[in-house]
Amino acid sequence: MRSFTYERATDAQAAVAAVSRTGAKFISGGTNLLDLMKLGIEHPSHLVDISRLPLREIEELPDGGLRIGAQAGNSDVAADTRVRTRYPVLSQALVSGASGQLRNKASTGGNLLQRTRCPYFYDPAAGCNKRNPGSGCSAIGGFNRIHAVLGASESCIATHPSDMAVAMTALEAEIELLDADGSVRRVAITDFYRLPGDTPHIETVLRPDEMITGVLLPPPLPGRQLYRKVRDRASYEFALVSVAAVVSTGQGTISEARVALGGVAHKPWRSLEAEAELAGRPATMATYRAAAEAAMRDAVGQGDNDFKIELARRTLCRTLAQAARSS
Ligand SMILES: Cc1cc2nc3c(=O)[nH]c(=O)nc-3n(C[C@H](O)[C@H](O)[C@H](O)COP(=O)(O)OP(=O)(O)OC[C@H]3O[C@@H](n4cnc5c(N)ncnc54)[C@H](O)[C@@H]3O)c2cc1C
Ligand code: SF4
Repeated sequence: MRSFTYERATDAQAAVAAVSRTGAKFISGGTNLLDLMKLGIEHPSHLVDISRLPLREIEELPDGGLRIGAQAGNSDVAADTRVRTRYPVLSQALVSGASGQLRNKASTGGNLLQRTRCPYFYDPAAGCNKRNPGSGCSAIGGFNRIHAVLGASESCIATHPSDMAVAMTALEAEIELLDADGSVRRVAITDFYRLPGDTPHIETVLRPDEMITGVLLPPPLPGRQLYRKVRDRASYEFALVSVAAVVSTGQGTISEARVALGGVAHKPWRSLEAEAELAGRPATMATYRAAAEAAMRDAVGQGDNDFKIELARRTLCRTLAQAARSS
C-alpha cells in the first residue's frame, strides 16, 4: 500500500473542503475503499474520514417520507422500525447484502458509491477501461458470467453491485449532495448513476467537490414491497440478478407498480417498460410474463452471462406474483 495522510472530519462542510485537495478521498466504513487501496486499485494521497460526522440520523420528512443520513449504517437502516414497516423492500435489500459484520461498518453513502465487482477491475494486470481508461475491457470475450445484459457498451460491461441502491430506485429516492460552496442539490437516484458509454470510469454525476449527505425517500406507494435476490450462495454473496418491486392491486387488477433490477446493468435498472405492462392490467401470470419480456427486450448476453436474461425474467415474474398476491 502506498503512503497517505489522514484526517478525521468533524463537520460536513469542512470535510468537503478537505476532499477538494488533489488526490483526496472520503473514507466512511472503509469496507470497499480499503480493499481497493490494498490491491493498488485506488491510491488516494489523503483520506478524509467522515465516519464520525453527525449524519447518522433517520428523520421523518414533512411529506411523510424519510431522510436517511449518509453515515447511517446499513444494519441500522435495515433495523429501523419505520424503514421496516414503510419501506420493507429497502430493509430486505440491505439484509440480503454482505454479512452482518460488513453491514455494521458499511454506510449509506459508501454503499451507494461502492465499485463494481468485475474481477478484471480488481486485477491490476488486466486491461480495464474503468480502472485505466483506454486499456480495453478484458471481460468482453473473457469470463463474463456476472456481467451486464442491459445498458452495457463496447467499453465496459460491468454491473453495479449494490442491493440497497436497487431498492432505493424502486422507491424513487433522491440523493442529497453538499458542494464545497455550501450549496445542496438533490438528484433522483435514476439520474445519479451513469451508463458506461465510452467513459466507464465516470460512474455517477457526483462532482469531485461534493459529498453525499443523505438519501430522501418519498412517502411509499400503497401496496406490497418485495426484494428478491438470486445468487450463487445463500448468503454473503453479490446478486446475479435481483428484483425490487412495489405493487399495488385492487379487485384483481394492478393499479400501479414500480420495478427495479440489480445485477443486470452498470446501474440499478428501473424498468419503465415493465411498469407500463403492469399498470391497469389483471394480476395474472400472463401480465407478469409480458412485463418480464418488456423488461428484458433489449437485453444482450456476452456468452457466459446469457443465462441472466431468462433468470431475470423468471425472478421478475415470481416477485411480481408474490407481491400482487399479498397486496
Ligand atoms: C465480502 C463482501 C461482500 C459484500 N456483499 C455485498 C452485497 O451482497 N451487496 C451489497 O450491496 N454490498 C455488498 N458488499 C459491499 C458493501 O456493502 C460495501 O463495501 C459498503 O456498503 C461500502 O460502504 P462503506 O461505508 O464501507 O464505504 P467505503 O469503503 O468507506 O467507501 C466507498 C466509496 O464511497 C466513497 N464515499 C463514502 N461515503 C461517501 C459520502 N458520504 N460522499 C461521497 N463519497 C463517499 C468513498 O470515498 C469510497 O470511494 C460486500 C462487501 C464485501 C467486502
Ligand atoms: S467490464 Fe468494465 S470493469 Fe470489467 S474489465 Fe471491462 S471495463 Fe473493466
